[in-house]
Amino acid sequence: MTEDAVVSFAQLAILPALHKVVDELGYETPSPIQAQSIPPLLEGRDLLGQAQTGTGKTAAFSLPLLSRLDLSVKSPQILVLTPTRELALQVAEAMQTYARHLPGFQVLPVYGGQNMSQQLRQLQRGVHAVVGTPGRIQDHLRRGTLKLDKLTSVVVDEADEMLKMGFIEEVDQILEHTPPERQTALFSATMPNEVLRVARRHLKDPIEIRIKSKTSTVETISQRFWQVKGLHKLDALTRILEAEEIEAMLIFVRTKIATVELAEKLEGRGFSSAPLNGDMTQALREKTIERLKNGTLDIVVATDVAARGLDVKRISHVVNYDIPYDTESYIHRIGRTGRAGREGKAILFVAPRERRMLYAIEQATRQPITPMSLPSRKDITDRRITLFKEQIAEAMESQDLEFFEELIDSYQDEFDVGHRRIAATLAYLAQKDKPLQLEGGPVDEVSVAEPASRPSPVERKAGETAELSRYRIEVGRIHGVEPRHIVGAISNEAQLSSNDIGQIKLYDTFSLVDLPADLPRETVRLLQDVWVCGQRLQLSVDKGKILKYKEKPANKRPFDKGADRRAKPGGKKPPQKPYKKK
Ligand code: AMP
Repeated sequence: MTEDAVVSFAQLAILPALHKVVDELGYETPSPIQAQSIPPLLEGRDLLGQAQTGTGKTAAFSLPLLSRLDLSVKSPQILVLTPTRELALQVAEAMQTYARHLPGFQVLPVYGGQNMSQQLRQLQRGVHAVVGTPGRIQDHLRRGTLKLDKLTSVVVDEADEMLKMGFIEEVDQILEHTPPERQTALFSATMPNEVLRVARRHLKDPIEIRIKSKTSTVETISQRFWQVKGLHKLDALTRILEAEEIEAMLIFVRTKIATVELAEKLEGRGFSSAPLNGDMTQALREKTIERLKNGTLDIVVATDVAARGLDVKRISHVVNYDIPYDTESYIHRIGRTGRAGREGKAILFVAPRERRMLYAIEQATRQPITPMSLPSRKDITDRRITLFKEQIAEAMESQDLEFFEELIDSYQDEFDVGHRRIAATLAYLAQKDKPLQLEGGPVDEVSVAEPASRPSPVERKAGETAELSRYRIEVGRIHGVEPRHIVGAISNEAQLSSNDIGQIKLYDTFSLVDLPADLPRETVRLLQDVWVCGQRLQLSVDKGKILKYKEKPANKRPFDKGADRRAKPGGKKPPQKPYKKK
């Protein structure tokens, strides 16, 4: 099979029941990774895929693996390993969706922090696929509650993230536990050596796929992104539509259905708009484009395919409502503006989990994409007032108002009210259906700029009143542990935000970590059983001192004596680094 040979889902030999779902979901064409991964995976081949999140990876492995499934075997045949519980849930949910016309199909997400007995019950009842974080999967393997003897396929998702979180050894060990003849697919956004080593050990003659980031420059287009936060994307879009000087806007979404839905929602909010997708007849598509060209329509919501090659000079704005799968589509999308030497504006909505794609795009375009804050309520109100004033001025210029002037005079005489009050009342009536003042809704956005890489939790130290206790975990330097592994494992397994994790001190055979003083007993118990770098954490309270940032200056805070005692005899006292506060 040559690269990019597949251009439609019809060409893929997935089950008819899956074709049906793809259709229902409105997926127009396979994304690049799907086009390249599905055929070899259907053949049962191993695969090493370099691709980011948001490229359509989940369907790239789910569709072929589900096609190869034997529904009558009620024992896990597919195992997907993910670095985080969020991703486990998301993948499991997506799989269940893709499999919705496969009768009786069951997928079980398995992750730390989740009720164990419930997981056990479901495992006993029988599932076809398991999606989980390495720690919890290993736990089940050790207890013998998860049997992998019927396994036919394993997927390692976001392998580089696993490495960052210190799970790569667990992944290695889990793969050891799976039948040797199983099929393996490993996906990773980057390919560090440790990931490649795991791939070399466990993949047999894999097909290698790389969703490339082509570099290119797009100079006449200013690019901004909005980090999806606080407001729904639709509200954000509405604000942008109101506050920016827009001649015409092309909005990109991922599916045909979404083009129709979003266009309808915008109509509902008073913005005349139309969808543009591959399901529409050629004639209708041409008509829509013609209206966009001649200015009878200003907003079009399109899929990548339908907007291919679109050349309308009026398009002043391109909004990536859904982030594209790859940098090439992004470049193509934003190229629909800034045409014929004009200036164009591109806006990208980025959900937190899509940040990697943002960096990939920045690299590919070799242009910074600057964070934007949404227009505030005040901005919107100001803009509406400006437009209202313009309307007044225009009417004053162009209309014969004599009749109305006399009407106002007679009103004034009759009721003895000043002109100002009458004018205000009329202004109120004029804007009543669409008030000038934007009200309600969630709080306004402030800044959106976040550093490119996650700062260490210590640097992001919590607020002044955070109460942390010191805990001991039984993994240390000799086991090769690094603070990021500990943060990864704890935040993931105990569902703590990395903000909740304070200072981490590594010793040779153990480490000390500051965690919320009020950690529930259940969480403590859970963390006792989490494995990092091959060691069980066996978390225990280390004298349980409560540290209050406010009361005790950081550098004077007594470091736990127990730690001193346990440090190597004659060894240095652990340094008393002050907590960094923001
Ligand atoms: P993923 O990279 O698997 O997380 O997928 C990202 C998003 O793209 C999900 O919301 C999918 O529903 C969507 N998606 C996946 N494949 C396609 C496709 N071929 N066409 C349109 N949307 C898709």
